[in-house]
Amino acid sequence: MGLRDGDGWVDCDCGFRHWGRFGAAGLLLLRRDTPQPQVLLQLRAEWTHGGGTWALPGGAKDSHEDSVTAALREAHEEMGIEVTALTVKHVFSDNHGPWSYDTIIAHSMNDAGAHIANPESTATKWSSIEEVETLNLHPGLKQSWVALKPLTISSLEN
Ligand SMILES: [Zn+2]
Repeated sequence: MGLRDGDGWVDCDCGFRHWGRFGAAGLLLLRRDTPQPQVLLQLRAEWTHGGGTWALPGGAKDSHEDSVTAALREAHEEMGIEVTALTVKHVFSDNHGPWSYDTIIAHSMNDAGAHIANPESTATKWSSIEEVETLNLHPGLKQSWVALKPLTISSLEN
């Protein structure tokens, strides 16, 4: 555990406030040992920002972290994800200028140990790629899924 200095809001040029003084990062984990590849989602606890919606594990980056480090740390803290089970395939950056959200697309050949590991989530779910957009998604994921979906599909080809 290092210094955690990323917690805080950023007033963004887009008119919204975002969480993470140095930006934020999340993990889009695709499990490939199932008949259809499946995306790991967490149901955010009601008391959290965007509570009651499905989201990717993730959170604020610290000043000393790159996006992959931050996303994998958050995924471990929130969902017990075993980093050694993952192969990182792609990084998608949703760059707003003063703030950005980087989504790390990674694959695993098992469940990577996913479970509810802290109070920020109340359920976990493996969803087919096609099912994701039918769920009540966190607004941030709903917006970025348009770009993430084709990248997730193409990550299966390499
Ligand atoms: Zn913004």
